[in-house]
Amino acid sequence: MQFDHILIRYGELALKGKNRKKFVEKLQHNIRQKLMEFSDVRVKRTQGRMFVLLNGHDPHEVIKKCKNIFGIHSFSLAIKVENDLEKIKDAALYALMNAEEVSTFKVTVKRINKAFPVRSQELNHIIGGHLLTNTENITVNVHKPDLEVKVEIRQEATYITSGVVRGAGGLPVGTSDKTLLLLSGGIDSPVAGYLAMKRGVEIEAIHFHSPPFTSERAKQKVLDLAEKLTSYGSKIRIHIVPFTKLQQRIFQETHDGYGMTVMRRMMLRISERVCQNEGILSMTTGENLGQVASQTMTSMNTINEVTNYPIIRPLITMDKDEIIDISREIDTFDISIRPYEDCCTIFVPKSPKTKPKRDRVNYYESKFDYEALLNEAIDGIEVIEVTDKKKVEDAFEGLF
Ligand code: ATP
Ligand code: MG
Repeated sequence: MQFDHILIRYGELALKGKNRKKFVEKLQHNIRQKLMEFSDVRVKRTQGRMFVLLNGHDPHEVIKKCKNIFGIHSFSLAIKVENDLEKIKDAALYALMNAEEVSTFKVTVKRINKAFPVRSQELNHIIGGHLLTNTENITVNVHKPDLEVKVEIRQEATYITSGVVRGAGGLPVGTSDKTLLLLSGGIDSPVAGYLAMKRGVEIEAIHFHSPPFTSERAKQKVLDLAEKLTSYGSKIRIHIVPFTKLQQRIFQETHDGYGMTVMRRMMLRISERVCQNEGILSMTTGENLGQVASQTMTSMNTINEVTNYPIIRPLITMDKDEIIDISREIDTFDISIRPYEDCCTIFVPKSPKTKPKRDRVNYYESKFDYEALLNEAIDGIEVIEVTDKKKVEDAFEGLF
């Protein structure tokens, strides 16, 4: 005997009314994509849940693969047996014996198939008794058991499930359209991307690169960050924008600490163009209120003047340590703290304006023809598709 199924629950999706079908199909698709390497594993839908048919594969390996898939609420290992009392008892015992660190349990029977000759209440006793007589040092606790052995008798078969492993939660990636993530090499923007993905949003990224002031390593850092994010969805396209010329010009033309503000506005202008070209409907940043000079309310108001695209700022109200906790959890922290400079750190004025005004920044921008420089930057965009490490290396081979 062995666990031959994994039961997948998707809690929140059940609430989504009309969209529900789309969500469920997307989730099934995303799970299939992730499990592609296990050729004979099957992913099936039944009412309100999904099953993975393992066909002999190790259930723990399969769950490990699925742990980053948004939309999955929880997993349970399951065994499917005929509607036969002896087989059900054996399977329940197997489920209990194969759980770790269990000293109390409870059996819950659901008899959906009313043709099954024994009633739920009685089944609870029979199965519970069978488990008690065949194990040592394990007792029943109906209120707070370490393990709940669930027995569900359906028309076609009986499913025995045990234990619950938490999934990633959220909504399946691809159910909430796409956003353009402004991805720097810092701690915040990858976390912002992760949180957008958690709400079902697909990601495309843009990175502003200023060689030779910023190095190839700084660029590689961004690709590595994107690669981490791919594990929550699928491939990510990154638009690498050559920003040097525009950035140098901005800091020649702008004074009083307004350079940072103009630079941010240029980033948004370029990002908006990319959105238009790619049919993307919003942008996402790692901005966080009050963290640095460019992230005051006044500054955000002034920067935001140049676009009417929605800007998603998932981190806006978080504390830095909360952001760091997530970045450790998703394994981007160690990449983010690599010491390579990004374009903001290098050109940042000694004292950036904390309350930059719209009229003032418009005055600076009116002094030079940035349109041509914007176009040049956009024309020079290099698109790299990040899927996994190997693909990134291939993409780089031709560049050095
Ligand atoms: P991060 O940790 O994400 O770099 P930060 O706290 O350093 O954020 P800023 O440098 O003010 O904050 O940047 C604010 C946001 O602007 C970033 O979160 C990111 O979304 C975007 N951004 C900054 N620099 C770049 C860049 N070089 N390329 C793309 N986006 C950028
Ligand atoms: Mg930064």
